[in-house]
Amino acid sequence: GNGGTDDETIVVIPGDGIGQEVVPAAVEVLESLDAGFDLVTYEAGDHVAAERGTPLPAETRAAVETADATLFGAAGESAADVILPLRRAVDSFVNVRPARAYPGVDALRPETDLVFLRENTEGVYAGLGRRLTDDVATGTRLTTRSASERLAEFACRYLADAAADSFTVVHKANVMGETDGLFRESVFDVAADHGVEPDEALMDAFATRVCLDPTQFDIVVCPNLAGDVLSDLAAGLVGGLGLLPSANLGPERGLFEPVHGTAPDIAGQGLSNPSATILSAAMLLEFLGYDEDARAVRRAVESVLESGPRTPDLGSDATTSDVTATIIERMSTDE
Ligand code: ATP
Ligand code: MG
Repeated sequence: GNGGTDDETIVVIPGDGIGQEVVPAAVEVLESLDAGFDLVTYEAGDHVAAERGTPLPAETRAAVETADATLFGAAGESAADVILPLRRAVDSFVNVRPARAYPGVDALRPETDLVFLRENTEGVYAGLGRRLTDDVATGTRLTTRSASERLAEFACRYLADAAADSFTVVHKANVMGETDGLFRESVFDVAADHGVEPDEALMDAFATRVCLDPTQFDIVVCPNLAGDVLSDLAAGLVGGLGLLPSANLGPERGLFEPVHGTAPDIAGQGLSNPSATILSAAMLLEFLGYDEDARAVRRAVESVLESGPRTPDLGSDATTSDVTATIIERMSTDE
């Protein structure tokens, strides 16, 4: 290894749909490294729900709770019952979602290079919805100062790593005065303590501005739902969901997953793009301290995106295994 402690346990959960293709691809990449961690595979998702009575078996959750890091694919119908508890199992308070365009990939906005730092525990994802009558349903949007501050503290530390001076806070505090007002105030308070002066943008205006000129933004700090929607929007700017990795980070553990879902329309054909998941594995390596390995994986993915082979979502006809094999080959020839 090159910085990792060489005795880490990485839990691997392929899940459903193309998770069964892209996670094994990323595992091949991880196994090709001469690193000292152990990879252990567990089950979750729709395909285990029927036989086990739950999409998230207790041993899977327990393994994630104690692993150093987890690589997750996707879950289908059961997504909310799998990924939300797993994010809680690593006490993940931030979802890091880089969205950048790559040379060689046809993108609407090839100049895009952003990272979303998405609040990962509350907002409308707090699970506080209720059906009051057949006609009426409500949902409670939860915002706490503590979660907002924890995100902001992370964002301020992230600036140093990213060699950036500031970030943009995206919110809708003009309409959701109480919840996003508290979010905004908490983030600005923490930033002030760190000598950081954030920019801010209303989330609707952000959606337009990022499409017209993504170079206006670098690091974007936002509440849960805004981060979910706006990062998928950014995926559209850079050439599709097959490219976007993400990291759910907690104080001690991390859970890494592609931004995309199970892609039922292409699952089972061996044609899914493994890049998002392999780039998620690179984020995992960096999290564990294997910085050189992480760089090697990233460079190899970039090189293959630039020269091919490429999967059908990127306009070509290569298979998941062609792409994965070429990435591994480039890693070993990389200087
Ligand atoms: P889910 O409900 O699990 O999110 P979905 O129908 O929303 O499933 P996504 O996985 O979010 O599907 O994918 C949306 C679209 O992007 C689909 O057309 C899918 O084929 C495509 N897509 C997503 N990920 C990939 C990938 N890794 N490679 C190729 N195409 C992908
Ligand atoms: Mg989806």
